[in-house]
Amino acid sequence: MTSNDLIEHPVTLHPRRSTAADEAVRERWSVDAIDALLNLPFNDLMWRAQQVHRQHFDANEVELATLLSVKTGGCPEDCGYCPQSVHYDTGVKAEKLMASGEVRAAAEAARQAGATRFCMGAAWRAPKDRDIDAVAELVRTVKDVGLEACVTLGMLAEGQAERLRDAGLDYYNHNLDCAPDFYGEVISTRDYQDRLDTLGRVRDAGVKVCSGGIVGMGESRRHRAGLVAQLANLPEYPESVPINHLVKVEGTPLADQPDLDPFEWVRVIAAARITMPTARVRLSAGRQQQGDAVQALAFLAGANSVFYGDKLLVTGNPDVAADRTLFKRLGIVSRAGIPGVSGR
Ligand code: SF4
Repeated sequence: MTSNDLIEHPVTLHPRRSTAADEAVRERWSVDAIDALLNLPFNDLMWRAQQVHRQHFDANEVELATLLSVKTGGCPEDCGYCPQSVHYDTGVKAEKLMASGEVRAAAEAARQAGATRFCMGAAWRAPKDRDIDAVAELVRTVKDVGLEACVTLGMLAEGQAERLRDAGLDYYNHNLDCAPDFYGEVISTRDYQDRLDTLGRVRDAGVKVCSGGIVGMGESRRHRAGLVAQLANLPEYPESVPINHLVKVEGTPLADQPDLDPFEWVRVIAAARITMPTARVRLSAGRQQQGDAVQALAFLAGANSVFYGDKLLVTGNPDVAADRTLFKRLGIVSRAGIPGVSGR
């Protein structure tokens, strides 16, 4: 790959962990190179993705993560896809942070169903220090149940990631959502650079990074390549990469967005697998709408993590029984074992 192939976006990548040694050992991906991947004949792209996937993972194993909204609604941000924003009339009511007893019960149920990671989402622009104390308690609760803990709380200030780490947090989720040159079409209340700064703080604190995006928001294929390039070219790419498909919620600005060809979602999953070979690529929001056949293609493209449970933050997800049936039909297993489906 020549220097001309390096990413050309104007956004400054978080500089703190990028060293000459990093640059030497890690392949960098240009938007052009990823666009070329996305434009491959579908079967060729699947073949490339499968080759990479099998070098790094058991191709038939998925990670099961359960997501719980621990503080729903009332968010001051204006993300155009989100029913939890106060800017849109979606019927989602603002609630207080859940008590640790409720979280413990949900985490225990998730573990019994076979999940290994428990992700908690709070609809804040940025948590206050007292919020961090309360979430730290929830993190300790989840760890005590025996699950990996992940939280998504919005933008972090200096020092907050360290406090979450000290509570035992394994992963922090903060999605880039889309390419920088499409971002203004979706969100106006925070900058792309704010997101990169939060990811940098998480990384610097030694907490693993979960970051991905959403397809189907009206972006072009080139924009989708731009999103994958941003993720793959982070100083250290995320350990978890959720690839969401827009769930159109009435009342949000994107409610009437035309449907994206489902193969585009699969192509982006394949591009994420190829460019971030050791990441867990997760099928996230929108999985329910894709149906079993498209999900099977997504696993073929290198997805190896799913949100598992009847509900995501405030939208539906395939129910646990439907997932177990699908995994059985596909011969998919999980690390911890799935009741009713074999495990490893
Ligand atoms: S996606 Fe997150 S930050 Fe954006 S409006 Fe929804 S809850 Fe707020």
